[in-house]
Amino acid sequence: MSYIPNSIIENGVTSLLRLFDEYAIEATFFVPAVVAQKFPTIMEEIVSRGHEVSCHGLEHDPREVTLSVNKQIQVIRTATEIIESKTGFRPVGYRAALFKITRNCWIALQKNGYVYDSSVVCSPFYGTHKIFLPAKPFRLPIPKSSENHGLLEIPVSVNPFLPFPLGGACMRIFGLRWSKIGVKSNFISKTPVVFYIHPKDVITRTSGRVWHSYCNTANCMKMLEEIVKYAKQSGAKFLKAHELARLCGEEFAKTCRVTTNTNSSHSRV
Ligand SMILES: [Zn+2]
Repeated sequence: MSYIPNSIIENGVTSLLRLFDEYAIEATFFVPAVVAQKFPTIMEEIVSRGHEVSCHGLEHDPREVTLSVNKQIQVIRTATEIIESKTGFRPVGYRAALFKITRNCWIALQKNGYVYDSSVVCSPFYGTHKIFLPAKPFRLPIPKSSENHGLLEIPVSVNPFLPFPLGGACMRIFGLRWSKIGVKSNFISKTPVVFYIHPKDVITRTSGRVWHSYCNTANCMKMLEEIVKYAKQSGAKFLKAHELARLCGEEFAKTCRVTTNTNSSHSRV
């Protein structure tokens, strides 16, 4: 993360916190452990407003998820301990850098007691193995550990008509209308909308390493506010990711009970 100037993280997070305050929203911040370590005051600001801090890897390096399970257990443990020491809360959720998640990472997360991952993007543009995964939260196909019911995946939402993830980067490129259509489509199919944004998306820039890193940054905050207003007008309830995970867990538990009851009645017959 050394390539991102401090001011972008500081000013970007401050702008986002202001917006969330104004609309009484509590959000989830996925933070790389090195960022939590470098910006303790920002971490305090985030936590004091009631937001959730989840883990975004140790150094925002996509190679972290390519390590062996044992190595990843250690890396995630280190990242978790750093974040906990700076926030006072042990993170229970994870998002892989650049959405590059692996099965080894899921196993390492579960071994570290994580409740959910939110790295899957149901789009052919984000790895062919993810095309057929559902857009709604689902249990991951990895062995359950004895002490919990398995890791939950909360996918990042996409616009089904042009399947890129709903978030700051694509909103800047494809525009507000594309984003609203994406949000509306998910509402219609009763899929929770997981919309993401980076601090760098909301800091006005006119140049950068590649055009899509600075394209339309001047309008991004305004567009995000429009999305928030649109969701509120539609009656949407804003949840932190761990709250959504708890609701999904309760739903799955109900389904399991129904399944168990059905089986037992069958056996009686
Ligand atoms: Zn990131």
